Amino acid sequence: MTHPERISPALRTEALEQLLTERGLVDSGVMDKFIANYETNVGPLNGAKVVAKAWTDPEYRERLLADGTAAIKELGFSGPQGEHIVVVENTPAVHNVTVCTLCSCYPWPVLGLPPSWYKDPAYRARVVREPRTVLHEMGLDLPAETEIVVRDSSSEVRWLVLPERPAGTENLSEEELIPLITRDALVGVAKVTATV
Ligand code: FE
Repeated sequence: MTHPERISPALRTEALEQLLTERGLVDSGVMDKFIANYETNVGPLNGAKVVAKAWTDPEYRERLLADGTAAIKELGFSGPQGEHIVVVENTPAVHNVTVCTLCSCYPWPVLGLPPSWYKDPAYRARVVREPRTVLHEMGLDLPAETEIVVRDSSSEVRWLVLPERPAGTENLSEEELIPLITRDALVGVAKVTATV
């Protein structure tokens, strides 16, 4: 029997969708609309809005770190894979990076659908074992004294990183900060920089 890991996720997904459609469990039209919605309407811009608000509103930041799901819902973002979002803050001392070692759990309401590298078995296995090397390969070099904490997502928790607000952005408004905040920074494989 072929080991399931050797079949591409795209092929497995297609097979699963076909099976569910054939058995009348899902309507393929509904499925297409659902995917299109997450591809076009829901994306990392939502997460960027959450972070920009946390950077400019200390009380919101506290609520966000205390109960991510509730604070994110305040801005109108909720839905599948967003039921248990836990927000962790990156600081010069601690850098959080997120992964789902088991599959591809990801906080959809704030980040949209995961990029292909996030679902790649190589990223999932290696970021746990050698996070510093993987981050380096992705273009992020952290000081040796920064502790790297790998956050493994599951059905119980979806992680969202609250990146450090970069120096030089003190005078920017919430609106002006939003475009600086990238998906990769929200996953923890990059930092936010003061210029886009
Ligand atoms: Fe998963």
